[in-house]
Amino acid sequence: MNKTDNLKFVKNFSEEELIEYFSSINEKPYRAKQLYDWLYVKESLDFDEMLNFSKSLREHLKDNFEITTVKQKEVQHSSSGTKKLLLETYDNKFIESVIIPDGERVTLCLSTQVGCPLDCKFCATGLMGYKRNLTPGEIVDQYIHSKSIGSKITNIVYMGMGEPLLNFKNTLESLRIFTDTRLETLSRNRITVSTSGITPKIIELADSGLRVQLALSLHSTFEDIRSKIMPINVKYDLKSVLIAVEYYLKMTDTKITYEYTMLKDLNDRDEDIKSLTKLCKRMPSKINIIPFNSIKHMSPGGLSAELEPTSRNKLMLFADKLRNNGITVMVRETQGDDIAAACGQLAVKSL
Ligand code: SAH
Ligand code: SF4
Repeated sequence: MNKTDNLKFVKNFSEEELIEYFSSINEKPYRAKQLYDWLYVKESLDFDEMLNFSKSLREHLKDNFEITTVKQKEVQHSSSGTKKLLLETYDNKFIESVIIPDGERVTLCLSTQVGCPLDCKFCATGLMGYKRNLTPGEIVDQYIHSKSIGSKITNIVYMGMGEPLLNFKNTLESLRIFTDTRLETLSRNRITVSTSGITPKIIELADSGLRVQLALSLHSTFEDIRSKIMPINVKYDLKSVLIAVEYYLKMTDTKITYEYTMLKDLNDRDEDIKSLTKLCKRMPSKINIIPFNSIKHMSPGGLSAELEPTSRNKLMLFADKLRNNGITVMVRETQGDDIAAACGQLAVKSL
């Protein structure tokens, strides 16, 4: 067998698939659980450590499988303490994960796709285009690599490269691993999936029973403006997305976080405050205001080239006005700007 065949990465098998595999080689089904424990509870990187397997089974696994799906190529450190991990996949694609410390909290921002097909006008990943979905193993290994460089991760956000709900099956599989109570990785309250708004998949995620936190990249409450900056809004308009979000909250008993990247004259006007206030009162929610990180280094054309950040003063005033209206507002500090690890700056030039 060719070991570079993607199927031979053991972390790309679900526990059910491992059971099937072990029975195909005349091994007992409980071996699957043992292997799962080695991979995800003990985070073992070496079949030789798995001493509750016979020597011949260890040899068989070594001959047929790889444990690590991605290779660590580089770790960049920002002055703010943020670290960016550059990882290479078996087919020489590069992905990035960002580790953001903030007091006691250390958040890992994970990627789910190489690039992204959705072409949001303010996003470097969008400008890079779409290459492929990441496998469940490639998603989970970003966490395992982050820990291996000494980071104690307390929160995971699916806000790196790609649209998690367009890689639904693999995102779900990775969430199942992270929320598996046997692993004691993180509670579901500390895991957030961010989406640009894929209506049918929000409903499927609600029905999955995983009950993780959901964030919606809102950026405008007006359909026409949202469609201009986020072309996906033409297919799934905000009206339909919000109905799906309402269903999600009902099924999971969670709050929605609206992400709102501030763009000068596009979504920072008084009418935006009025409309956002109305929207936030509709269901339990909070707003995460994000300063727009420049994407000029990508030399974009069209609308992307014209986008400017809202000034800091105006952004703070916008947040205060919302707070005065009774809305919960967080302002995200731009982190890791100096290493292009801030939101929407994840794009690997060498692709
Ligand atoms: N595809 C998903 C998750 C990845 S994007 C989504 O769109 O939600 C993560 C967050 O970064 C989103 O809220 C996105 O809108 C925001 N973002 C993208 N580009 C940005 C930029 N240049 N400056 C600030 N935020 C940006
Ligand atoms: Fe894709 Fe999210 Fe970037 Fe839009 S903001 S292009 S959905 S990664």
